[in-house]
Amino acid sequence: MAPDSPSWSALLRDIADFPKPGITFKDITPLLADGAGFAAAIDAMSAPWRGQRVEAVLGIESRGFILGAAMAHALGCGFVPVRKPGKLPAHTLRQEYALEYGSDCIEVHADALPPGARVVIVDDVLATGGTLLAALSLARQLRVEVLGAGVLVELPALGGRARWPDAVPLVATLAY
Ligand code: AMP
Repeated sequence: MAPDSPSWSALLRDIADFPKPGITFKDITPLLADGAGFAAAIDAMSAPWRGQRVEAVLGIESRGFILGAAMAHALGCGFVPVRKPGKLPAHTLRQEYALEYGSDCIEVHADALPPGARVVIVDDVLATGGTLLAALSLARQLRVEVLGAGVLVELPALGGRARWPDAVPLVATLAY
């Protein structure tokens, strides 16, 4: 962590070997449980997008819902859930993406937003980047305008940013 990291970043904790051996899980639940810390983190995540006429935050299930919905409130815009398969009730667009072993899929309602709507994509952690890239593909299928993406934590060693298009701003509030 950089020496100028905000004090609330101490509320994140590392859980070794979760959900499987060798993975260090960034647990945001102590931050969420702290009112002042949570508010400061949402302020920091929202700051880059203020004044950009954001119309909706696209939040990725499930921790992207918590952070993204709070950001939408802070920015005075709407919230659109990007969900795991089979959860959304109406007609959906879907995007598969590769995992280390196998593949996964995310979905969004096909009529969630009008074409051209100005959106920001939000998740908690950027690791290999597959999830955020899949959300970008869904946004492109929706034909919305992606102002950028925001994550609370980037894990630079996992190389996600290298897979993300240079033309689309990607803001990480913290990097470890
Ligand atoms: P990736 O697609 O590899 O960038 O992984 C990002 C997604 O997986 C996000 O939705 C995160 O919530 C979750 N994730 C991946 N690695 C971690 C980690 N070390 N700690 C917490 N969440 C993680």
